[in-house]
Amino acid sequence: MKHHGRIKVEKNERIVAYFSMEIGLDHRIPTYSGGLGVLAGDTIKAFADLHVPVIAVTLVHSKGYFYQKIENGEQKEIPVDWSKDDFLKKTDVVIDIPLKDRTIKVTAWEYICKGCANYEVPVYFLDTNLPENSDYDRKLTDHLYGGDEYYRMLQEIILGIGGVRILEALGYTNLKKYHMNEGHAAFIAFELYNRLKGKVPADELVTEIRKRMVFTTHTPVPAGRDNFPLDVVKNTLPDFPDEHEASIVQDGKLSMIQLALYFSEYINGVAEKHGEISRGMFPEYPIDSITNGVHSVTWTCNSFQELFDKYIPGWRRESFSLRYAIGIPRDEIMEAHEKAKGALIDLLNSRLNAGFDRDIFTLGFARRAAAYKRADLLFKDVNRLVHLSEQVGKIQIVFAGKAHPADQHGKGIIKHINDIAASLKDKIKIVWLENYDMDSAKLLVSGVDLWLNTPIPPWEASGTSGMKAAHNGVPHLSSMDGWWLEGHIENETGWSIGKTASTDSPRNDDQDAAEMYLKLEKKILPLFYHDKSAWVNIMRHCIALNGSFFNTHRMVEQYVVNAYFR
Ligand SMILES: *Cc1c(COP(=O)(O)O)cnc(C)c1O
Repeated sequence: MKHHGRIKVEKNERIVAYFSMEIGLDHRIPTYSGGLGVLAGDTIKAFADLHVPVIAVTLVHSKGYFYQKIENGEQKEIPVDWSKDDFLKKTDVVIDIPLKDRTIKVTAWEYICKGCANYEVPVYFLDTNLPENSDYDRKLTDHLYGGDEYYRMLQEIILGIGGVRILEALGYTNLKKYHMNEGHAAFIAFELYNRLKGKVPADELVTEIRKRMVFTTHTPVPAGRDNFPLDVVKNTLPDFPDEHEASIVQDGKLSMIQLALYFSEYINGVAEKHGEISRGMFPEYPIDSITNGVHSVTWTCNSFQELFDKYIPGWRRESFSLRYAIGIPRDEIMEAHEKAKGALIDLLNSRLNAGFDRDIFTLGFARRAAAYKRADLLFKDVNRLVHLSEQVGKIQIVFAGKAHPADQHGKGIIKHINDIAASLKDKIKIVWLENYDMDSAKLLVSGVDLWLNTPIPPWEASGTSGMKAAHNGVPHLSSMDGWWLEGHIENETGWSIGKTASTDSPRNDDQDAAEMYLKLEKKILPLFYHDKSAWVNIMRHCIALNGSFFNTHRMVEQYVVNAYFR
């Protein structure tokens, strides 16, 4: 670690605590499953770049998420043995979480996230693997989203209640804001309630808690699955804020979303549309929106990093200066892309014997295999797809993504795509790159020619992989949902599929697929193969218009102004 130039920050200067059940900082620290965790990591990196006095908390997930192998088209889950000592430093702090029937002991590992000017943001990974705990409790911080309902409730108690206690024990005694990245951390409210009860007048208690709480909601699905039977909660925790039960309990269950909403002063959705949908779902709460972003340096491939360093020297400190990418010469943009595309294709050819060709239009699709993302929409009409490739312009396709181990439907999608890929092998080259993670994501978003995104509106609250693609000059073909409603300019930053959704507009896969094929046939393939200079203009717009805005620097500045220091 470099010590010169290190910026010294006193613990009592840290005033914001950021809580997330998953954090993706580095692909070698496999404590994330997808977009939520990667967003958290990208947010923390921006805090560090911008010198925002934050500390972050998550669980250590000692067994990782999982390593995905594909065998005969089927997902196999392999546990990840990752060595905490290589990346994290164990602290000697241990705190108690008193439950009705026992006490759970929790310790923490520290990771230092360094910003572009060496400002440090510490991240604490909570760990219950201590000899004082029972065998069961020692495993509570092993598996992200693992176990049964009781296991996950205890994980959330550890994150929310344990997190507040650990930070205090570590010496962070001047925290003004607790920011919950999704509702998993909402037990923070219980802990603050117990601490403030008796210290502030009873009629000001809720207001006092709310002043300290910031909540970012990420789901547009009304029946949030994050809830726990009330009797189980009450049998586990010694204290329950009974007088507020009606506001936080739904159908006999403690709803973590309702808990977070009720006790937060500032609440936001993760894109404008998602804010609107959330206000419709929870009309009793004021809900703002702050559109997600990605960490520009993290998601820009080497060849574009070099190009930006040459033409936009300040871009690492100020993502908005990517605006000036509009002046980068076209041939250099093209050259940087060819390098990234070459790196991806070399990997696919050597690892998977893909037989991909650098001159062929390459389409990419990678995300969690969740049903609403419709990974197989591209195969709605296989003959049409083959016709496009044979008659309009050759296509090769790369897929990636994990399904949650318990998600049979998601696994079915993976199998379906792999089966179709095999059946089309003489007509279109299609490969599945296994184990989608932050490392392969970067290769994919920078190395393909077009990034495809087909969620059923309005279920993609934001989506971020298309923003990563934009940073690398890769245009987006996407249904009109999440961030794309804000980033889309037809024929300038990419192309749309279907209309803007309202919650009651019926889902229509056939129509969406037809429009996707039509855009490929009439606009995208002809431009790619026959008008390279127009194509490169679009690539530049992606960086200048979307890279400069859909980044976590802009996003964190909005959190600072609207949520933390208002
Ligand atoms: C960026 C990223 C995601 C999220 O992408 P979406 O477009 O929001 O689905 C998921 N997984 C990994 C590994 C990522 O890097």
